[in-house]
Amino acid sequence: MKITSIETVVCHARMRNWIFVKVVTDQPGLWGWGEATLEWHTRAVVGAIEDLSQLLIGEDPRRIEHLWQMMYRQHFWHGNGIVRGTAISGIDIALWDIAGKIHNVPCHELLGGRVRDYVRLYCHLGGGRMEDFYQTKPDDAKRFGELAASAVADGFTAFKSMAVPETMPLEGLKPVHYAAACVEAMREAVGDDIDIMVDCHARPSPRMGLQFAKALEPYGLYFFEEPCWPESLEDIALIQRAVKTPIATGERLIGIHAFRDLFEKRAASVIQPDITHCGGLSEVRRIAVLAEAYRVAVAPHNPQGPVSTAASLEFGFSAPSYIICESVHNDVPWRDEVVKEGFTIEKKGRIVLPNKRPGLGIEINEAEARKHPFEQEVLQRTFYKDGSVGDW
Ligand SMILES: [Mg+2]
Repeated sequence: MKITSIETVVCHARMRNWIFVKVVTDQPGLWGWGEATLEWHTRAVVGAIEDLSQLLIGEDPRRIEHLWQMMYRQHFWHGNGIVRGTAISGIDIALWDIAGKIHNVPCHELLGGRVRDYVRLYCHLGGGRMEDFYQTKPDDAKRFGELAASAVADGFTAFKSMAVPETMPLEGLKPVHYAAACVEAMREAVGDDIDIMVDCHARPSPRMGLQFAKALEPYGLYFFEEPCWPESLEDIALIQRAVKTPIATGERLIGIHAFRDLFEKRAASVIQPDITHCGGLSEVRRIAVLAEAYRVAVAPHNPQGPVSTAASLEFGFSAPSYIICESVHNDVPWRDEVVKEGFTIEKKGRIVLPNKRPGLGIEINEAEARKHPFEQEVLQRTFYKDGSVGDW
């Protein structure tokens, strides 16, 4: 059995271009789907996949680990940068899809078998609608409360918000009060039985991140995400030691070595590897095993497209420390026309029952996907009041 081609299908989904990766074999009708979506770097990732193809065409797609080692270590430069990490991930996910199809079992059966009956989903405020999630003003606490109530009305038992405003390295009380007011409004709207998460998008400096973490501690967040830059693991660890709120991070880390450093510093209680960036299903397995040793929870980053979600769920059904799956459902209205999924979602509680189809259990409708060709993604940039560059 041989790989004959590696193709990419770019599908524009407003804030993102979904990059679907199709690994085709010489067996009639046998191919696998992966995803390598990387906002604002679409052309670079498509090019990186083309570069990697040189290593893989003619190889046996069943030798997933061997091919992963080639992609990561050959071409001299290790594949731990975001562009090549994403390209490797997309191809790797497609290889696991092929393996499932060859053996006629869902991927989670290949990853050790099912460890749970269902996977719980959480949503973004607004369900992934860009304007609700990213552009609700931090001084509009009431709106945060309304969106929280509507997530619960949609069946979710957990949701994530961007309640921490963009801040300069040091600011006074105003942004801290805004954040507290937003979280208070959400807690009042949904009560104590619903899990609320706050994502800081690594906007704050370490000191501001600590101030926000302290201010939000009384509201019992499920987790508090990226309180400062991922380059500052020591500072994330300091924040984790200062509050009882579980700190989450890891969506921008590539490969097991970066997570090793995070674990060694005891920097987080929840890791968020992105299966489409960190090295695919092959690498997230290793990262999750390491997390087991530290008894750290795993909640993969997953705001992208449908193949990413299918991969995250297959992994979630096989990984003991996996606690919850991030999901978006209101990003584009035609999501269901592009993909058919093998798993089912129960509206009450938004829990996912396992896929029974082979591989990732998905079908991509290429003709539908091609109706939404590449467009430059909507820019999301931050400048502080004085015109200096900030973190979005
Ligand atoms: Mg995040």
